[in-house]
Amino acid sequence: MNRQQLLAELARPIVRDLAIIGGGATGLGLALDAAARGYSVVLVESHDFAKGTSSRATKLVHGGVRYLAQGNLALVREALHERTTLLRNAPHLAQPLPFVMPAYRWWERPFYGAGLKLYDGLAGAAGLGRAQWLNARETLACLPAARAQGLRGGIKYWDGQFDDARLAIALARTASARGALVVNYCAASQLIHEEGRVAGVHCEDRETGLRHTLKARCVVNATGVWVDALRQQDAATTGSPVAALVAPSQGAHLVVDQDFLPGEHALIVPRTSDGRVLFAVPWLGKLVLGTTDTPRRDLPLEPRPFSSEVDFILSEAGRYLSRAPRAQDVRSAWVGLRPLVRPLGQEVPRTQRLSREHTVLVSPSGLVTVTGGKWTTYRAMAEDVLDACIEHRLLPSTLSGVTADLRLVGAGLADGPDAARPLPRLSAPPGLHSYGSDGPAVLSLPGAARELAPGLTEAMVRFAARHEYARTVEDMLARRWRTLFLDARQAASLGHAVGALLYEETGVDPRLAEFQALAASYATTKSATSR
Ligand SMILES: Cc1cc2nc3c(=O)[nH]c(=O)nc-3n(C[C@H](O)[C@H](O)[C@H](O)COP(=O)(O)OP(=O)(O)OC[C@H]3O[C@@H](n4cnc5c(N)ncnc54)[C@H](O)[C@@H]3O)c2cc1C
Repeated sequence: MNRQQLLAELARPIVRDLAIIGGGATGLGLALDAAARGYSVVLVESHDFAKGTSSRATKLVHGGVRYLAQGNLALVREALHERTTLLRNAPHLAQPLPFVMPAYRWWERPFYGAGLKLYDGLAGAAGLGRAQWLNARETLACLPAARAQGLRGGIKYWDGQFDDARLAIALARTASARGALVVNYCAASQLIHEEGRVAGVHCEDRETGLRHTLKARCVVNATGVWVDALRQQDAATTGSPVAALVAPSQGAHLVVDQDFLPGEHALIVPRTSDGRVLFAVPWLGKLVLGTTDTPRRDLPLEPRPFSSEVDFILSEAGRYLSRAPRAQDVRSAWVGLRPLVRPLGQEVPRTQRLSREHTVLVSPSGLVTVTGGKWTTYRAMAEDVLDACIEHRLLPSTLSGVTADLRLVGAGLADGPDAARPLPRLSAPPGLHSYGSDGPAVLSLPGAARELAPGLTEAMVRFAARHEYARTVEDMLARRWRTLFLDARQAASLGHAVGALLYEETGVDPRLAEFQALAASYATTKSATSR
């Protein structure tokens, strides 16, 4: 369906079962689960799919080693189970990755090793590989660029990694293939209430300014860190104010060349100088360093790192790598906002202690709000939301569990001809393989042999415009192809060519100037502000 057809569909005066506001991991996962169960579904996203937090993760499909330390075993077990489900249903976008924790103090190997054995135990049959104690030589074989001085050994364990934004697009496309109507650049502006009950939402097409009225039996607010805006709007109709649900905290990442940590193992620092966890993850041919956990009160769409966060990541990485990365080595710097759920009615504690578990709330008017959680558990979150909708009689009862074995677009068939062929690793640079079983469809488009940059062809831009909802240069170079997040200067240099192709495909302004300004800010850590 092209955009005109999507908007024509949106304008149909029908009452759908479910209207979802927000097109990140949470909203898109829910759209897929609901459509797969047979509900009629519409989802609107005010910007692009995954423009919010869902393109800014540390790229780990994980149980959460740090939650283990907090003793939250149920959360870890559920996430480990979901990890396996995701790896199975989207093998081109989510894969196992070995991690090594280097140990420089005598007690670290036995202490963390025991924890990681427990992690394996919790995974049970869903385990990806056994945790192993390594001596110093074996540790350096896995992490050749780790600091050798004082190294006593390490622990190797398995988790997963993924391409978050491409997974979001895959969810949107799979949901659409199951009958859901998913529309980006369409902002929910006003909830509709009828006789005290939420009955739909007014939204606005951000390209034309045209307003649409969406009626639905059940409305879900899946707007991530922004959920409180709609909750307050909803509460205003009943006259009883609501307390904020989200205590935002930002996490910064710095991307450097992979030769700072060659190989296919990620490095984890279990306890940084201020008690956090830091990762160095090989991803799409580069190395992602992060993250931080800094409370903030405002909710910008494009948060920038604080200079203290940049200094912290670089200095911690420098303690563990034989060659310390410097600010001028950073290819891209980006930040995500965590929708941490605030214990209602209490003061905000330090954000690292707030729960990552998701929360589902149903307001007196019937507005369903879901936030918190993590990317890894999006599918379990969708099931919980639908259970709540059914329990509150907002939706008729259906069979749950339908997405457990539902392969996403691009995954091909579990027993298809390509199933036995190993896929290139997600730690390697992207290419046609990133499209999984859609590769032949990409190759069939004009410009399949014309490269704009290594691995990126003209045909991929056309595919993004025709099949992946891309409208702007940013949509293409930030989320369909991840250059903005990997190398912002290279992304800027590609803007013009990508913009021309998109214009040819869509006929709308691809907003090149806006993208160039954004790329300039990702390319430098100098823009980092102090706090
Ligand atoms: C720094 C960091 C690192 C992380 N790393 C990991 C990790 O490695 N692994 C993992 O599993 N999880 C990770 N997470 C958690 C995970 O990324 C989030 O839990 C998840 O992306 C949240 O998705 P969401 O859909 O709830 O929110 P979002 O992705 O923010 O989506 C909400 C969407 O709602 C839209 N919206 C807002 N208002 C409106 C409106 N009025 N109308 C229409 N649309 C609207 C926004 O534009 C946005 O796209 C990380 C989080 C952070 C911050």
